[in-house]
Amino acid sequence: MADGAELTAFVREVVLPGSAGTRPRVNPEACRFRLRTARSPIHRWGLFAAEAIPARRRVIEYTGQHIGPREALRRNIRPQIYLFRTGARRYIDGAIGGSGAQYVNHGCQPNLTARIRKGRVMLVSLRRIERGEELLYDYRLGGGIDDLPCRCGAPSCRGTMRPARPDPREDPAARKP
Ligand SMILES: [Zn+2]
Repeated sequence: MADGAELTAFVREVVLPGSAGTRPRVNPEACRFRLRTARSPIHRWGLFAAEAIPARRRVIEYTGQHIGPREALRRNIRPQIYLFRTGARRYIDGAIGGSGAQYVNHGCQPNLTARIRKGRVMLVSLRRIERGEELLYDYRLGGGIDDLPCRCGAPSCRGTMRPARPDPREDPAARKP
């Protein structure tokens, strides 16, 4: 990291991907329904249904760069976290090669759930989602990713993006010291 060019690339690609003012894009190839990004009442940009989505349907794949815990820890310094934990020591960084699913905000009463299979993540609808609704899933943050306060506004809001009970599969080795 002593090399200046490497540091510049790290800041551009990892710390500040994209620019704050431009509407983030969604890769239609990763979506099973029409989705669009828009300003979210919860946090910055969000992902919204541009058409109604029935219950229990695949909505969008969460894509990105597959990284290990050490690299995840290094990238955890970003102001916007796009890390999705797929296993005890595996993460997907949606900031790099992300489908647009990385803009789905956390909600304590989500309308999506994440299905992880062979390291791939699919966001699936928990109920019918109306056109114009913001898509949300429960981040259940853990495994070395810093906790964040939740302001989702749901009546059952936990006030945190951590799960109510810790994940029993949690790998202590992946936690921060
Ligand atoms: Zn909440």
